[in-house]
Amino acid sequence: MISKLIGVFGGTFDPVHNGHTKIIQNLLELIPFDEIKVIPNGQPPHRTSVCSNNDRLEMVNLAFKGIDQISIDEREIHREGPSYAIHTAKEVLEEFHQHNVVWVMGSDAFSEIDSWFEWEEFIKIINILVMVRPGSKIDPASQAGILIKDKQTSNIDDLNQGEGKILVVDIDPVNISSTQVRSNLASGETVNDLILEDVSDYIDSGKLYTKAI
Ligand code: ATP
Repeated sequence: MISKLIGVFGGTFDPVHNGHTKIIQNLLELIPFDEIKVIPNGQPPHRTSVCSNNDRLEMVNLAFKGIDQISIDEREIHREGPSYAIHTAKEVLEEFHQHNVVWVMGSDAFSEIDSWFEWEEFIKIINILVMVRPGSKIDPASQAGILIKDKQTSNIDDLNQGEGKILVVDIDPVNISSTQVRSNLASGETVNDLILEDVSDYIDSGKLYTKAI
């Protein structure tokens, strides 16, 4: 059997924006993923989401529907309790044990890796791909910076074997965040270049994000 390269891209997606879709499209051009599982979290460990699980899931479905290699994975939405990455990583690694699973995240998220539940085990069991995000340089003196120094590889093929490697990828920068989208929506500013039309229509019809955040 030929092993597949499977990415896991988790997030709160509150709401999903053009940054999320553009970086994933760009990543698919750079790295030959057979599949990337987009996993909206149910109960984010470090924050509370503004929109309901169902609304965030619906918007993620709308945003990624045109990208063939993407599948939307609902496991964290349906899991009780906080959505810890270590639990998801263990489940996906077990389900796809004949394949190569890589956790995909932005550099802002990776910078805070040492605040994640059971992070030391997490970084041992899975390969990680970090996409450099504008304004989120990893401080070399931080725990995340030390991990990169110790575990970084520049060889994409390393993602196909073993675990505990970190590949840092310079994607085309997209300076959009969900925070900016929520803030624009609450103050009545345009979000035209920030989110897809289908997502914008969904937000309008549900009158989502109308309150100041
Ligand atoms: P918020 O502003 O609410 O914190 P966000 O824009 O960071 O939200 P998330 O849903 O938290 O969106 O992000 C999910 C994942 O996507 C994280 O790994 C994050 O680092 C990454 N990500 C989001 N936007 C970008 C971007 N513009 N460039 C690179 N990575 C991004």
